[in-house]
Amino acid sequence: MPSPVGHALGGAIVGLVAGARQPGGRRGFNGLRAALASPLVAAGAVAGVLPDLDFLWGRHNMETHSLGAAVAAGVVAWLWRRGQGRLALTVGLAWVSHVLFDWLGSDDTPPLGVMALWPATSAFYFAHAYVFEAISRRYWLDGFLAHNLWAVTTEVLMLGPVLAVAAWWRARVAGV
Ligand SMILES: [Zn+2]
Repeated sequence: MPSPVGHALGGAIVGLVAGARQPGGRRGFNGLRAALASPLVAAGAVAGVLPDLDFLWGRHNMETHSLGAAVAAGVVAWLWRRGQGRLALTVGLAWVSHVLFDWLGSDDTPPLGVMALWPATSAFYFAHAYVFEAISRRYWLDGFLAHNLWAVTTEVLMLGPVLAVAAWWRARVAGV
């Protein structure tokens, strides 16, 4: 399961892709900066991290890590900023990206995976793909820091280029 850094990057990518199309793309650094400064990118990054708040009430990888929760998050965003369909879509899909990344990532705490299809079923789903390293919370173990630094580095190396391409596409092709 990725760290909050990986989840925020995933949500930000969703925000870039879902951004409203406006005429007049800008080139170069200013275009990239404008693309990344979009409120939808910020909303996506936040929504990408939020499912892990379930640590607070001790039900990690359960109800919040599901498509049902993603739909609920989109509805909440819709009610909060009524009529902003792109915001609701960004929040919902960024939430889905969290579920997807955790499904694709590594997990070392049974039951493995996420309750992806809740509330239809409370079964856990795990892709056994190990795309992302598991973030260790066992801070008392040797190598805790080194492992997590390596995990975050690989997330940035994988998702950073995708974010850059999405920002470039947003700035040059779709316009910001
Ligand atoms: Zn998670």
